[in-house]
Amino acid sequence: MATARMTQRQQLFRTDFRAKVAKAYNGWLHVTLIAAIGLAAIWYCARQVTHPAWYEWLVVPVAFAISNVFEWWIHKYVMHRPVRGLMGIYRRHTLAHHQFFTDVEPTFDTARDFRIVFFPPYALVAFIVLSIPPAAILNAVGFGNAGWLLLVTNVALYLNYELFHFCCHVKDDSLVRRIPLVNSIRRHHIAHHDPVIMMTRNFNLTYPVADWFFDTSDLKCGLVSHVFNGYSDRHVRLK
Ligand SMILES: [Zn+2]
Ligand SMILES: [Zn+2]
Repeated sequence: MATARMTQRQQLFRTDFRAKVAKAYNGWLHVTLIAAIGLAAIWYCARQVTHPAWYEWLVVPVAFAISNVFEWWIHKYVMHRPVRGLMGIYRRHTLAHHQFFTDVEPTFDTARDFRIVFFPPYALVAFIVLSIPPAAILNAVGFGNAGWLLLVTNVALYLNYELFHFCCHVKDDSLVRRIPLVNSIRRHHIAHHDPVIMMTRNFNLTYPVADWFFDTSDLKCGLVSHVFNGYSDRHVRLK
């Protein structure tokens, strides 16, 4: 992770990208906006839940599983592939995020670099809007509480994604390396920033469940070992 080993190409990209970030950009304001929108949505939706039946809680693990596959799918098939109509996402991820961060230098220097880590706040708004139709369908068929619980779960997982991705790119990992789950995803994601495997491996950003299930992980081991792997390279397969 030494800066000294950063290639000239990465160094040049960083200099160029930083010069283009608007002077008025404030990284902490960016984070605060995402957190405020997300937490307000969770607070509002949670207040609508009243005495849910036990089976309505089942929407939480189902939403977790679908979100985990969605996170894997969009990363593999949209963020790393030029899809017509969604080119902005490809450019932002493959042609910017992956040039700014490599497995050799995967960390940001200042809060202005948050611009390349967090999604723009409107992405969260779009995600909430996309979550409304399935919640409305649940409501229409008599499972109103399940609908609100679905919205709470989806928004919480979105914030979870942003937080974990941030933890993957922080410079000082003296704390992160000790936190179970977070340390696993940090190693998992930094390995994904290796240009050699970025198109084929390690697409999850929260918990590497879909990567394990679809065999797109750089680890060769079971699900529990994946999720609690930490920084270990014992199960890393050859490229
Ligand atoms: Zn990243
Ligand atoms: Zn990627």
